[in-house]
Amino acid sequence: AARPGRLPERGVPCCRTVEDVLTPLEDCFMLDAGASGHTRIPVYEGERSNIVDMLHLKDLAFVDPEDCTPLSTITRFYNHPLHFVFNAPKLDAKVNEGEGDPFYEVLGLVTLEDVIEEIIQPEILDE
Ligand code: ADP
Repeated sequence: AARPGRLPERGVPCCRTVEDVLTPLEDCFMLDAGASGHTRIPVYEGERSNIVDMLHLKDLAFVDPEDCTPLSTITRFYNHPLHFVFNAPKLDAKVNEGEGDPFYEVLGLVTLEDVIEEIIQPEILDE
């Protein structure tokens, strides 16, 4: 007979509660229901401005969640090129030329859609 407080088959002590084994909310990987989906997701190391890779949604198609594949394995496999452009033609990264050495600051992400919209917008407004 099984001793009280023990699961006989696997010997898992049932004195442990659900709370003992759960992953705390602050450590959970979660998505905000209000977030809008994007096809490409910049991957950063340490700081958000330190973008090291780009994940495309379709890169996840053949990933088995059971394998717990590290994100870096996927991004290194696909190795999508990252293009950093200057903000001089009114786009991405900024060169600050003040006192001391100039430094590069990542300002954001720009896609063809942003550029095409800029080209098309004045034409729509003209109509
Ligand atoms: P998507 O189809 O993934 O939304 P688009 O190239 O059509 O990408 O871009 C649509 C808009 O979404 C653009 O203004 C672009 O700058 C923005 N965008 C694209 N990817 C992201 C992202 N990962 N985070 C925030 N905005 C993004």
